[in-house]
Amino acid sequence: MAPARLELARGGAAVTTRQPDRDRLWKANREVQVLVVEDDSAIGEPLATGLRREGFEVMLVQSAAAALSAPPADLVLLDLGLPDAHGFEVCRQLRARSTVPIIIVTARDDETDRVVGLELGADDYVVKPFGFRELVARIRAVLRRSAAQPSATSGPQVIGELEIDRRTHRVLLAGEEVQLTPKEYDLLALLALDPGAMVTRREILAEVWDPHWYGTSKTVDVHIASLRKKLGDPKWIETSRGVGFRLAVPQ
Ligand code: CA
Repeated sequence: MAPARLELARGGAAVTTRQPDRDRLWKANREVQVLVVEDDSAIGEPLATGLRREGFEVMLVQSAAAALSAPPADLVLLDLGLPDAHGFEVCRQLRARSTVPIIIVTARDDETDRVVGLELGADDYVVKPFGFRELVARIRAVLRRSAAQPSATSGPQVIGELEIDRRTHRVLLAGEEVQLTPKEYDLLALLALDPGAMVTRREILAEVWDPHWYGTSKTVDVHIASLRKKLGDPKWIETSRGVGFRLAVPQ
């Protein structure tokens, strides 16, 4: 992944999500244990409070030692400047024993730090000061990516007549291969992570394009239209006007 993709935009647009969608996100977040490793309580406390408000289960620790002895989490937000050890050491040790997604948080926008962090196995990297909404979007994206990792034993996902093989990126419809562009594939794979669930335009732009996409969301419409065409039935992808899209099995 190119370092440029990992910079956190500042002052991103506010997210407006409708209530049913908020509820869905809240329910999805609720199962998730986030370990926040941050020694500066002026940052850690409001961050923990904000994440709890989003529905996450949060444990806040203030040292490397506490981070390494904490119960297993589903995701780690890791500050690099800790009082008892460098965050990289925590990252290295966590990664040595688990595949828990790790997002490094640092005050320094330093490319070397970024590269080292990613080489040590961090999944993403945010630079202070960061926007809270952006961070939550990052967390959700990292969690989704880690949930979508194909395991050696998992076969293609089957949804009605549609088969999606995440290992090979091949898509079959009624046994026939559907030729998709990489973006069309990513878009379909994203919608298929939770068939029937609404995925907002913002989520689509953040995950299929770039977390800091400032272009027009018309791009999404264009790709949805071509995906529908290739799937042979527009009913595969339902539109919720002004909100987003969901994958549905045509009846
Ligand atoms: Ca610190």
